[in-house]
Amino acid sequence: MNALQEKILKDGIVKQGNILKVDSFLNHQMDVELFNEMGKEWKKRFEGKKIDKILTIEASGIAIACIAAQHFGVPVVFAKKAKSVNLDGEMYTAEVESFTHKNKNTVIVSKKFISEGEGILIIDDFLANGCALQGLIHIVQAAGAHVEGIGIAIEKGFQAGGRMIRNMGYQLESLAIIDAMDWETGTITFRE
Ligand code: 5GP
Repeated sequence: MNALQEKILKDGIVKQGNILKVDSFLNHQMDVELFNEMGKEWKKRFEGKKIDKILTIEASGIAIACIAAQHFGVPVVFAKKAKSVNLDGEMYTAEVESFTHKNKNTVIVSKKFISEGEGILIIDDFLANGCALQGLIHIVQAAGAHVEGIGIAIEKGFQAGGRMIRNMGYQLESLAIIDAMDWETGTITFRE
């Protein structure tokens, strides 16, 4: 069992509606030491890949991506939730449906910050149905860059996203994959 899994068992709270609350170490208060271990692990798992940049999505992905980036020695770009629909053509855009908030956001990345031919590592905190990842993959493809890999902290393996992304042929490295969780008993079962 790795450090992230231990932390989830110790401090994660299972909520009704298939939500795992991890705001004491990941989504609100942040355990930087743990993030550093996660970054080290992704560096190992993506050894040999040509990674020029890390791409994530605001807000919770940013801190994880920044700590990971120190192990890769590359910049981080985060997709921003667009505040206005008045986009000027200088942006790559994607529609992302939020699993937790049940609303749709347009996310944007300036064309300045992802270039044709770049190798991109996508990092995010959670993988549920895969909408966030699909949006980020769409942006990388629109830029003519290449997704070298995807690093996720917590994958909810009982939702469809992980299977879909692996079927698309991407190297998806989730540091904790939850196969089942029960809000009534608080039980969390990890994939071996
Ligand atoms: P997806 O797009 O894969 O359906 O959902 C991924 C996004 O939803 C993540 O970026 C994360 O912010 C949020 N999310 C999905 N499931 C959970 C959950 O169980 N707990 C928390 N804290 N966030 C989640």
